[in-house]
Amino acid sequence: MYCLNPQRPLDPALLRPYLHPMAILPIIETPDPRLRVISKPVETFDAELKQLVADMFETMYDAPGIGLAAIQVGVPKRILVIDLQEPDPEDEEGKKVIRDPRVFINPVFSDESEEHSVYSEGCLSVPEQYADVTRPAEVTVDWQDEDGKHHQERMTGLMATCIQHEHDHLEGILFIDHLSRLKREMVLKKLAKLRKAA
Ligand SMILES: [Zn+2]
Repeated sequence: MYCLNPQRPLDPALLRPYLHPMAILPIIETPDPRLRVISKPVETFDAELKQLVADMFETMYDAPGIGLAAIQVGVPKRILVIDLQEPDPEDEEGKKVIRDPRVFINPVFSDESEEHSVYSEGCLSVPEQYADVTRPAEVTVDWQDEDGKHHQERMTGLMATCIQHEHDHLEGILFIDHLSRLKREMVLKKLAKLRKAA
């Protein structure tokens, strides 16, 4: 997912990762059919998985974005990385962000709230397009970490929105699928125009 507020885009310079032996992977974009694939559960928690997760973080920070699903780099596995990179309240200029990298493997949702929230979402696989999407405001998530250990947490706010957006990717769903047909066609038309201009 992109930064949700297009008026306050993330500054790539601030997001430059530290030097690690990681790779920036190519992000696939709509209408690539791989984005419609249903991702498979992770069963082996090994060094290869850790490398993929590290590469996904590197790719997400470089984009820059706040969330990335493995299928967006062409790997059909149930892996999400998220770092909301929220502004540091200590920084008066409002430029510094707090790094909080989180990985969610085999995430499962339950107990979605009846209350909904609306965010202007964007997606690294639907570049530079934003639209309001309505989702449950809160959701409980069960997931595994890179070592296969189980966790559960009630997600709220931007994290709830972001993890639902990323989880959709595991089911082959894009945020534009939540829009009316008219609105979706408008977004895709704008994207086609953008690509033509590039
Ligand atoms: Zn996305």
